[in-house]
Amino acid sequence: MSNALTYPKTIIEFMDTFNTDEKCLEYIASVKYPKGWYCGNCGSKEYGLIKTRRLIKCKHCGYQDSLIANTLMRNTRKPLRDWFWVLYMLSTQKTGLSAMELYRQLDFGSYKTAWTWLQKIRMAMVNPDRTELNGAVEVDETYIQTGKAGKGRKMGGKKAIIICAVEIRETKNDEKLISGRIRLRYIPSASVDNIQPFIRDHIVKGSTIITDGWSGYQGLKRYGYNHIVETIGDPKQASKKFPRVHRVFANLQAWLVGTHRYISTKHLQNYLNEYMFRFNRRYIPKVSFDSLLKIAVLSEPKTYKDFIGIKKPVYINSEV
Ligand SMILES: [Zn+2]
Repeated sequence: MSNALTYPKTIIEFMDTFNTDEKCLEYIASVKYPKGWYCGNCGSKEYGLIKTRRLIKCKHCGYQDSLIANTLMRNTRKPLRDWFWVLYMLSTQKTGLSAMELYRQLDFGSYKTAWTWLQKIRMAMVNPDRTELNGAVEVDETYIQTGKAGKGRKMGGKKAIIICAVEIRETKNDEKLISGRIRLRYIPSASVDNIQPFIRDHIVKGSTIITDGWSGYQGLKRYGYNHIVETIGDPKQASKKFPRVHRVFANLQAWLVGTHRYISTKHLQNYLNEYMFRFNRRYIPKVSFDSLLKIAVLSEPKTYKDFIGIKKPVYINSEV
């Protein structure tokens, strides 16, 4: 039960590494008990796995511990390596995974089951130890197309406003400016009441916030931020004044249209969570898989009902 795994670099290596449920169980155990398992009854550290029931069993007294109770994987009849594959795809592959692909590839009984599976994971794509963005941060909002994917790589009919913050970072060597971490939120309207809580939730005081002249950004100094207003005459110039935010918007929209055939506004925040999760870990795929697995192992499961009951956007922050 050691975490000293040579991390697979390709999907083939990944699938070779986690090719049995037993190997997945060992890995889950190493995530769940990073200091090593010990028996809650007699204190022994010697155990065996009952892989059919996904249990750890104490070699001395026979005490049993479930490895997947209270995890996202509880009650699952699917092989654990299926779960691992999904977590790998969602955490490391640029396009993630659509419910339709999952339904076809892993032989799910229904599209709905596959969709629910993915939503469960997306909803949990949250790091509870998040830190706020800092330094210089570009913030802007835009309309994203939702609804059904139609012809010409467009989504049909609906639009939702999302707001994005991107850290501006300097590279160590050539002092080039690059994007750091991002935060995204679906907001019902671009009013002060929606914009400023987003900024206060995600950006540390003392940071410099760069926005356009929209009234929703007025008064940020009151909350301890430095505020630079870039006035834009022609709206088409917005992507030049805020290149990082607008690159995120463009890539996000392309991903939604290209990978998913239907995005309901109600669940948009979950997709934003997935997008943020990968974006913020784009240079560290190993950490990415590990942290998603940790989330899957350590977070409380949700059911289909939890998703269909959502009326208002749910603000769950996905963070690095
Ligand atoms: Zn024992």
